[in-house]
Amino acid sequence: PTFDSIGLKEDLLRGIYAYNFEKPSAIQQRAIVPITRGRDVIAQAQSGTGKTATFSISVLQTIDTAVRETQALILSPTRELATQIQSVVLALGDYMNVQCHACIGGTNVGEDIRRLDNGVHVVSGTPGRVYDMIRRRNLRTRNIKMLVLDEADELLNMGFKDQIYDIYRHLPPSTQVVLLSATLPHDVLTMTQNFMTDPIRILV
Ligand code: AMP
Repeated sequence: PTFDSIGLKEDLLRGIYAYNFEKPSAIQQRAIVPITRGRDVIAQAQSGTGKTATFSISVLQTIDTAVRETQALILSPTRELATQIQSVVLALGDYMNVQCHACIGGTNVGEDIRRLDNGVHVVSGTPGRVYDMIRRRNLRTRNIKMLVLDEADELLNMGFKDQIYDIYRHLPPSTQVVLLSATLPHDVLTMTQNFMTDPIRILV
């Protein structure tokens, strides 16, 4: 299996090869196709498997860059991780004219508001600041098609449960959900039951 054979957009493929990925990793081989076909996916995967590129490629394949509205929201547990994810999305989307903003605590709120008001296709953030921006209506949710919960077990360990549920309630009911987690404890499984429809489960 190659990246060419999974039906990705030409400008996205260019970004993937320019980033020096030659062939998809195991999780990429199994998860990208169902995600880009609209399925909810639970991936039990550790760091190092290529999980970040799995959802970044799927997000980039799903968004329409001609529409300058937030279409994908990626939540992760730390500012560092949210910033890393932003840089992977921007690198893989280098030929797509994609706007991706890191919406994280400890940064200037005014800058967040300016970027969001300008229109960004993808938001990668931590739950606290993201929910703050949704409440202030600077992050508009009506065009969001995909929610990614990265390191879901860590998100819950760090106490973000209420904020994640608050964010979820502001998303369109049809929002596709992709969840990645090293472990699947009870509270993560409960979240999958509350947020997801007939999810595919992938273990790598
Ligand atoms: P992650 O699991 O997201 O922490 O990724 C682990 C590392 O694998 C990162 O340095 C990625 O750049 C790299 N990586 C992800 N997918 C591929 C691929 N298809 N080919 C080569 N390296 C990859």
